Amino acid sequence: MPENRVALVTGGTRGIGRAVVLRLAQDGFDLGFCYRSDRDAAELLTKEVLDLGVRVIGAQVDVADHTAVSDWVDRTADELGPPDAVVTSAGITRDGSLALMAESDWSQVLRTNLDGVYHVCRPAVFRMIKRRAGSVVTLSSVSGVYGNPTQTNYSASKSGVIGFTRALAKEVGRYGVRVNAVAPGMIETDMLGELSEQARTRMLRGIPLRRFGRAEEVAELVAFLVSDRAAYVTGSVFEINGGLVV
Ligand code: NAD
Repeated sequence: MPENRVALVTGGTRGIGRAVVLRLAQDGFDLGFCYRSDRDAAELLTKEVLDLGVRVIGAQVDVADHTAVSDWVDRTADELGPPDAVVTSAGITRDGSLALMAESDWSQVLRTNLDGVYHVCRPAVFRMIKRRAGSVVTLSSVSGVYGNPTQTNYSASKSGVIGFTRALAKEVGRYGVRVNAVAPGMIETDMLGELSEQARTRMLRGIPLRRFGRAEEVAELVAFLVSDRAAYVTGSVFEINGGLVV
């Protein structure tokens, strides 16, 4: 019997990462996911994934911590097998105007959203190159493609993710490793929950499809990108935003 494919997902317990974990489990991937703090959510997700008949290991790992992430990738590879797919969904916002932005709000966002991507991709891609196969999907954002006021830190991190993605795609394509970015618009997750009712109504007016996206819809795109159906797709940035920017 052929061995299962293995996927690593950062930020797996909530929102888009959680939807990706469940979607890839449906496709038969064994799953290693990490999260920042919510152990109950991780246990619940683990149960749901096990019910889908694949193996799963959840771990509390801060993606900003280089050593912890490297250990996590090693541990998961030892227990489940080397990664066939990596999805970097862990991300945070610390919004505010630049003129008043605290250094900690700048550095926490960059450390999590950009350094975190390097931390997980370095050891995972090393293994993919050795096996001459693999697919990486990074989560950027509409803010990373176009910029967003009060999000200089977040926009910089998410633009950085796009640069990282394109550079890595060019670097590892010859080894059969594909790298793509997904740039969502407004997706209904906890990250959006921080918006006031007024702001939500105003934003909906700017979205041609007149609704926010669902995490499952982003997960569907990610599932396509890590599959063989996307075998000739690399170095691309996929916007999924209901027409927010056209
Ligand atoms: P979310 O806040 O619902 O979930 C974030 C997840 O990341 C959680 O599981 C959390 O545990 C994890 N996480 C955060 N910091 C971490 C850290 N230091 N170490 C490990 N895990 C950490 O967010 P979401 O809406 O699902 O967003 C997922 C990704 O998509 C993020 O990178 C986000 O920037 C991006 N994105 C989201 C939207 C949106 O509208 N929701 C839009 C564009 C881009």
